Amino acid sequence: MVNLTIDNKKIEAEAGQTILEVSRENGIVIPTLCSNEALEPSGACRMCLVEVKHGKRTRIVTSCLYQVAEGLIVDTKSERVLAARRLVLQLLLARCPESKQLREMAEELGIQPEPRFTPDQDKSKCILCRMCVRTCEKVVGVCAIGFSYRGSEKNVCTPFQEDSVSCIGCGACAYVCPSGHIEMETTETGDSRKIWGRTFKMKSCKVCGRYFAPEDQLKFISTTTGVPVDDLAVCISCR
Ligand code: SF4
Repeated sequence: MVNLTIDNKKIEAEAGQTILEVSRENGIVIPTLCSNEALEPSGACRMCLVEVKHGKRTRIVTSCLYQVAEGLIVDTKSERVLAARRLVLQLLLARCPESKQLREMAEELGIQPEPRFTPDQDKSKCILCRMCVRTCEKVVGVCAIGFSYRGSEKNVCTPFQEDSVSCIGCGACAYVCPSGHIEMETTETGDSRKIWGRTFKMKSCKVCGRYFAPEDQLKFISTTTGVPVDDLAVCISCR
C-alpha cells in the first residue's frame, strides 16, 4: 500500500493503481474522454491531466497512466491543470466543432464552446482517441475498423473506406465513441440497424419478440463459442 494526497485528502491506495482509478474510488471527479474500464488506459485524449508533486518536482501528467507513489501530492483542480485541460478541449473543439459531447464538456469546464482555434473545414467529430478501434479489436474481437491517412487527414474508417465485411453490427464502437462521431441508425420497428454503411438485420427474441441483436453478431458469437444460434436468440430481459 502507498500513502498519497489528492486534493488535500490523505488517501491509502494499492501500489500499481493509477491516479485516475484512486481518484474515482475516492469520489474525486476527473474528466476523461477516452477512459473505459473494459480497455487498457491509453492517455489519448489528455483531458485527465493533473498536477503531481513528488519531492521538489511538480509536473502535469495524465492521471489515467500515472501510477500512485508513496508521498505523492496530487492536485486535480489547480489553475495550471484547469488551464491545460481547457487548452486540450479547445484544440479538440477546433477539430470537432460540431460535437455535442465536446460542447457540453466545454460548458462544464466554463469555456466558450465556440472554437478558439480555426475549426477544421471537414467538420469531423472524430477526436482520434482510438476507443472504437480498440473496442472492436480487444473487446468484440473483430478488427473491422482502423485509421487511414496521416496528420490532419487521419480518420477512423473501414478498410479502404468500403462497407466492412467483417463488421457484425454490434454497435460497441458507437457506444464508446466519446464525441458522437460514429453514427448508428435503427429503424422505428427495430428490425434493422445501419452502421459503417451497412444495414444489419436484427434478430427478435424468441420469448418476448423484441428485436435485440444483429443476426450477424449472434452468428459470430455462435462461431466463437460453439453455442447454437437458436440458443442465443433470447434477449437479456428474458434470459
Ligand atoms: S459495429 Fe462493427 S466496427 Fe463497430 S465494434 Fe461492432 S464489429 Fe466493430
